[in-house]
Amino acid sequence: MKNNNLLEIRNLSVSYGAIRALKGISMDVPTGKIVVVLGANGAGKTTMMRTLSGVVQASTSGEILYKGQNIKSKEAHRIARMGISQSPEGRYILAGLTTEENLKVGGVSVRGKAALNASFAEVYSLFPILEERKNQQATTLSGGEQQMLAIGRALMMKPQLLLLDEPSLGLAPLIIKSIFEAVKKISASGVTVLMVEQNARQSLLIADYAYVLELGNVKSEGSADELLADEELVSAYLGKKK
Ligand code: ATP
Repeated sequence: MKNNNLLEIRNLSVSYGAIRALKGISMDVPTGKIVVVLGANGAGKTTMMRTLSGVVQASTSGEILYKGQNIKSKEAHRIARMGISQSPEGRYILAGLTTEENLKVGGVSVRGKAALNASFAEVYSLFPILEERKNQQATTLSGGEQQMLAIGRALMMKPQLLLLDEPSLGLAPLIIKSIFEAVKKISASGVTVLMVEQNARQSLLIADYAYVLELGNVKSEGSADELLADEELVSAYLGKKK
Protein backbone atom coordinates (compact mmCIF):
# COMPACT_ATOMS: atom_id res chain seq x y z
CA MET A 1 0.00 0.00 0.00
CA LYS A 2 1.36 3.39 -0.99
CA ASN A 3 -0.79 5.17 1.57
CA ASN A 4 -2.84 4.28 4.62
CA ASN A 5 -5.98 3.30 2.70
CA LEU A 6 -7.13 -0.28 3.10
CA LEU A 7 -9.69 0.29 0.36
CA GLU A 8 -9.80 2.76 -2.52
CA ILE A 9 -12.72 3.01 -4.89
CA ARG A 10 -11.77 4.75 -8.13
CA ASN A 11 -14.29 6.01 -10.65
CA LEU A 12 -16.59 3.03 -10.07
CA SER A 13 -19.63 2.74 -12.32
CA VAL A 14 -22.21 -0.03 -12.09
CA SER A 15 -25.12 -0.50 -14.50
CA TYR A 16 -28.04 -2.89 -14.53
CA GLY A 17 -28.72 -2.81 -18.28
CA ALA A 18 -29.78 0.75 -19.04
CA ILE A 19 -29.99 1.69 -15.34
CA ARG A 20 -26.82 3.36 -14.06
CA ALA A 21 -26.85 2.74 -10.30
CA LEU A 22 -23.33 4.13 -9.68
CA LYS A 23 -21.91 6.84 -11.94
CA GLY A 24 -18.19 6.96 -11.33
CA ILE A 25 -17.78 7.18 -7.55
CA SER A 26 -14.45 7.47 -5.73
CA MET A 27 -13.91 6.86 -2.01
CA ASP A 28 -11.07 6.12 0.42
CA VAL A 29 -11.34 3.87 3.45
CA PRO A 30 -8.28 4.33 5.68
CA THR A 31 -7.02 1.38 7.73
CA GLY A 32 -8.57 1.24 11.20
CA LYS A 33 -11.24 3.88 10.55
CA ILE A 34 -15.03 3.85 10.35
CA VAL A 35 -16.32 5.32 7.09
CA VAL A 36 -20.05 5.83 6.63
CA VAL A 37 -21.89 6.26 3.33
CA LEU A 38 -25.17 8.11 3.71
CA GLY A 39 -27.89 8.16 1.13
CA ALA A 40 -31.62 7.90 0.60
CA ASN A 41 -33.39 4.89 -0.89
CA GLY A 42 -32.15 4.20 -4.40
CA ALA A 43 -28.92 6.20 -3.99
CA GLY A 44 -26.87 3.12 -4.90
CA LYS A 45 -25.64 2.09 -1.44
CA THR A 46 -26.52 -1.59 -1.66
CA THR A 47 -25.19 -1.76 -5.20
CA MET A 48 -21.89 -0.37 -3.94
CA MET A 49 -21.65 -2.92 -1.11
CA ARG A 50 -22.59 -5.84 -3.35
CA THR A 51 -20.02 -4.72 -5.92
CA LEU A 52 -17.32 -4.57 -3.24
CA SER A 53 -18.08 -8.08 -2.01
CA GLY A 54 -18.28 -9.49 -5.54
CA VAL A 55 -21.91 -10.58 -5.58
CA VAL A 56 -23.45 -7.95 -7.86
CA GLN A 57 -24.81 -9.13 -11.22
CA ALA A 58 -24.21 -6.02 -13.31
CA SER A 59 -21.65 -4.44 -15.62
CA THR A 60 -18.94 -2.50 -13.86
CA SER A 61 -16.06 -0.19 -14.69
CA GLY A 62 -13.41 1.56 -12.61
CA GLU A 63 -11.20 0.13 -9.88
CA ILE A 64 -11.63 -1.26 -6.38
CA LEU A 65 -8.19 -1.35 -4.78
CA TYR A 66 -7.87 -3.45 -1.62
CA LYS A 67 -4.37 -3.27 -0.14
CA GLY A 68 -3.39 -1.78 -3.48
CA GLN A 69 -4.70 -4.72 -5.53
CA ASN A 70 -7.64 -4.37 -7.91
CA ILE A 71 -10.36 -6.75 -6.71
CA LYS A 72 -13.12 -5.52 -9.00
CA SER A 73 -14.82 -8.51 -10.65
CA LYS A 74 -13.01 -11.05 -8.48
CA GLU A 75 -15.20 -13.92 -7.29
CA ALA A 76 -16.96 -13.41 -3.96
CA HIS A 77 -15.20 -16.30 -2.20
CA ARG A 78 -11.77 -14.93 -3.20
CA ILE A 79 -12.69 -11.48 -1.90
CA ALA A 80 -13.88 -13.05 1.36
CA ARG A 81 -10.65 -15.00 1.67
CA MET A 82 -8.68 -11.78 1.30
CA GLY A 83 -10.33 -10.51 4.49
CA ILE A 84 -13.46 -8.65 3.39
CA SER A 85 -16.69 -9.69 5.07
CA GLN A 86 -20.18 -8.34 4.49
CA SER A 87 -23.20 -8.16 6.76
CA PRO A 88 -25.93 -7.70 4.16
CA GLU A 89 -29.05 -5.54 4.26
CA GLY A 90 -32.01 -7.60 5.42
CA ARG A 91 -29.75 -9.75 7.62
CA TYR A 92 -30.20 -13.05 5.72
CA ILE A 93 -30.57 -15.21 8.79
CA LEU A 94 -30.63 -18.86 7.77
CA ALA A 95 -33.96 -20.45 8.65
CA GLY A 96 -33.96 -23.89 10.26
CA LEU A 97 -30.64 -23.20 12.00
CA THR A 98 -29.94 -22.07 15.54
CA THR A 99 -28.02 -18.93 16.45
CA GLU A 100 -24.83 -20.93 16.93
CA GLU A 101 -25.27 -22.84 13.67
CA ASN A 102 -25.71 -19.53 11.82
CA LEU A 103 -22.44 -18.30 13.31
CA LYS A 104 -20.75 -21.52 12.30
CA VAL A 105 -21.72 -20.87 8.67
CA GLY A 106 -19.88 -17.53 8.91
CA GLY A 107 -16.83 -19.33 10.24
CA VAL A 108 -16.83 -22.07 7.62
CA SER A 109 -13.47 -21.03 6.21
CA VAL A 110 -11.84 -20.77 9.65
CA ARG A 111 -9.24 -23.53 9.94
CA GLY A 112 -8.88 -25.47 13.19
CA LYS A 113 -11.04 -25.88 16.27
CA ALA A 114 -9.01 -23.48 18.39
CA ALA A 115 -9.40 -20.67 15.85
CA LEU A 116 -13.12 -21.39 15.50
CA ASN A 117 -13.57 -21.31 19.28
CA ALA A 118 -11.67 -18.03 19.44
CA SER A 119 -14.08 -16.56 16.85
CA PHE A 120 -17.09 -17.75 18.86
CA ALA A 121 -15.62 -16.29 22.05
CA GLU A 122 -15.04 -12.93 20.36
CA VAL A 123 -18.56 -12.72 18.96
CA TYR A 124 -20.12 -13.80 22.27
CA SER A 125 -18.11 -11.25 24.22
CA LEU A 126 -19.29 -8.52 21.83
CA PHE A 127 -22.92 -9.72 21.89
CA PRO A 128 -23.53 -11.71 25.12
CA ILE A 129 -27.21 -12.10 24.23
CA LEU A 130 -26.21 -14.33 21.31
CA GLU A 131 -24.54 -16.77 23.69
CA GLU A 132 -27.67 -16.82 25.85
CA ARG A 133 -29.69 -17.54 22.72
CA LYS A 134 -27.22 -19.89 21.06
CA ASN A 135 -29.56 -22.88 20.89
CA GLN A 136 -32.59 -20.84 19.81
CA GLN A 137 -33.90 -21.02 16.26
CA ALA A 138 -32.40 -17.91 14.68
CA THR A 139 -35.61 -16.82 12.94
CA THR A 140 -37.28 -16.47 16.36
CA LEU A 141 -34.70 -13.90 17.54
CA SER A 142 -35.84 -10.29 17.87
CA GLY A 143 -34.94 -7.83 15.08
CA GLY A 144 -32.07 -6.41 17.10
CA GLU A 145 -30.74 -9.87 17.98
CA GLN A 146 -30.92 -10.89 14.32
CA GLN A 147 -28.90 -7.80 13.38
CA MET A 148 -26.32 -8.74 16.01
CA LEU A 149 -26.25 -12.26 14.58
CA ALA A 150 -25.72 -10.97 11.04
CA ILE A 151 -22.80 -8.82 12.20
CA GLY A 152 -21.46 -11.63 14.39
CA ARG A 153 -21.59 -14.03 11.46
CA ALA A 154 -19.57 -11.61 9.34
CA LEU A 155 -17.00 -11.37 12.14
CA MET A 156 -16.53 -15.13 12.49
CA MET A 157 -13.89 -15.22 9.76
CA LYS A 158 -11.90 -12.43 11.43
CA PRO A 159 -12.11 -9.91 8.58
CA GLN A 160 -9.81 -6.95 8.13
CA LEU A 161 -12.57 -5.00 6.40
CA LEU A 162 -16.18 -5.27 7.58
CA LEU A 163 -18.93 -4.07 5.21
CA LEU A 164 -22.19 -3.23 6.99
CA ASP A 165 -25.31 -2.56 4.94
CA GLU A 166 -27.84 -0.51 6.94
CA PRO A 167 -27.34 -2.15 10.34
CA SER A 168 -29.93 0.16 11.95
CA LEU A 169 -32.72 -0.63 9.47
CA GLY A 170 -36.07 -1.22 11.15
CA LEU A 171 -34.73 -1.16 14.71
CA ALA A 172 -35.87 0.83 17.75
CA PRO A 173 -33.67 3.77 18.87
CA LEU A 174 -32.24 2.03 21.94
CA ILE A 175 -31.28 -1.05 19.95
CA ILE A 176 -29.73 1.15 17.25
CA LYS A 177 -27.59 2.74 19.92
CA SER A 178 -26.29 -0.62 21.12
CA ILE A 179 -25.60 -1.80 17.56
CA PHE A 180 -23.55 1.34 16.86
CA GLU A 181 -21.71 0.93 20.17
CA ALA A 182 -20.81 -2.60 19.08
CA VAL A 183 -19.56 -1.25 15.73
CA LYS A 184 -17.32 1.12 17.64
CA LYS A 185 -15.91 -1.78 19.68
CA ILE A 186 -15.34 -3.79 16.50
CA SER A 187 -13.38 -0.86 15.10
CA ALA A 188 -11.39 -0.51 18.34
CA SER A 189 -10.42 -4.18 18.02
CA GLY A 190 -8.61 -3.31 14.77
CA VAL A 191 -11.23 -4.02 12.09
CA THR A 192 -11.74 -1.34 9.43
CA VAL A 193 -15.43 -0.60 8.88
CA LEU A 194 -17.31 0.65 5.82
CA MET A 195 -20.99 1.12 6.63
CA VAL A 196 -23.90 2.39 4.59
CA GLU A 197 -26.72 4.01 6.53
CA GLN A 198 -29.81 6.17 6.30
CA ASN A 199 -29.56 7.14 9.96
CA ALA A 200 -27.20 10.10 9.60
CA ARG A 201 -27.00 11.42 13.12
CA GLN A 202 -26.20 8.23 14.99
CA SER A 203 -23.88 6.77 12.38
CA LEU A 204 -21.92 10.04 12.13
CA LEU A 205 -21.48 10.00 15.90
CA ILE A 206 -19.31 6.88 15.64
CA ALA A 207 -17.76 7.47 12.19
CA ASP A 208 -14.48 9.14 11.29
CA TYR A 209 -15.35 10.15 7.73
CA ALA A 210 -18.48 10.19 5.61
CA TYR A 211 -19.65 10.30 2.02
CA VAL A 212 -23.12 11.24 0.84
CA LEU A 213 -24.41 9.32 -2.18
CA GLU A 214 -27.20 10.75 -4.28
CA LEU A 215 -28.54 9.05 -7.39
CA GLY A 216 -25.29 7.21 -7.99
CA ASN A 217 -22.93 10.14 -7.41
CA VAL A 218 -20.89 11.30 -4.42
CA LYS A 219 -22.71 14.52 -3.55
CA SER A 220 -20.51 15.54 -0.63
CA GLU A 221 -17.90 14.23 1.76
CA GLY A 222 -16.08 15.27 4.88
CA SER A 223 -15.07 14.33 8.39
CA ALA A 224 -17.95 13.00 10.47
CA ASP A 225 -17.75 16.15 12.62
CA GLU A 226 -18.04 18.41 9.58
CA LEU A 227 -21.09 16.57 8.30
CA LEU A 228 -22.72 16.42 11.75
CA ALA A 229 -22.48 20.19 11.92
CA ASP A 230 -24.49 20.41 8.68
CA GLU A 231 -28.02 20.54 10.12
CA GLU A 232 -29.67 20.46 6.71
CA LEU A 233 -27.85 17.30 5.72
CA VAL A 234 -28.46 15.53 9.01
CA SER A 235 -32.18 16.27 9.00
CA ALA A 236 -32.44 15.19 5.35
CA TYR A 237 -31.22 11.72 6.34
CA LEU A 238 -33.43 10.74 9.28
CA GLY A 239 -31.28 12.61 11.73
CA LYS A 240 -33.68 12.96 14.61
CA LYS A 241 -32.23 14.55 17.71
CA LYS A 242 -32.13 12.22 20.73
P1 ATP B 1 -32.09 1.15 -0.58
O1 ATP B 1 -31.70 1.88 0.63
O2 ATP B 1 -33.53 1.36 -0.97
O3 ATP B 1 -31.69 -0.30 -0.60
P2 ATP B 1 -29.82 1.83 -2.19
O4 ATP B 1 -29.19 3.15 -1.98
O5 ATP B 1 -29.17 0.66 -1.54
O6 ATP B 1 -31.33 1.88 -1.80
P3 ATP B 1 -29.64 0.31 -4.64
O7 ATP B 1 -30.43 -0.83 -4.08
O8 ATP B 1 -28.20 0.13 -4.83
O9 ATP B 1 -29.88 1.62 -3.75
O10 ATP B 1 -30.32 0.75 -6.02
C1 ATP B 1 -29.79 1.78 -6.87
C2 ATP B 1 -30.56 1.80 -8.18
O11 ATP B 1 -30.31 0.60 -8.93
C3 ATP B 1 -32.07 1.86 -7.98
O12 ATP B 1 -32.59 2.72 -8.99
C4 ATP B 1 -32.53 0.44 -8.19
O13 ATP B 1 -33.84 0.37 -8.71
C5 ATP B 1 -31.53 -0.08 -9.20
N1 ATP B 1 -31.29 -1.54 -9.04
C6 ATP B 1 -30.81 -2.17 -7.94
N2 ATP B 1 -30.69 -3.49 -8.14
C7 ATP B 1 -31.11 -3.73 -9.41
C8 ATP B 1 -31.25 -4.90 -10.24
N3 ATP B 1 -30.88 -6.10 -9.80
N4 ATP B 1 -31.72 -4.73 -11.48
C9 ATP B 1 -32.08 -3.52 -11.96
N5 ATP B 1 -31.97 -2.37 -11.23
C10 ATP B 1 -31.51 -2.46 -10.00
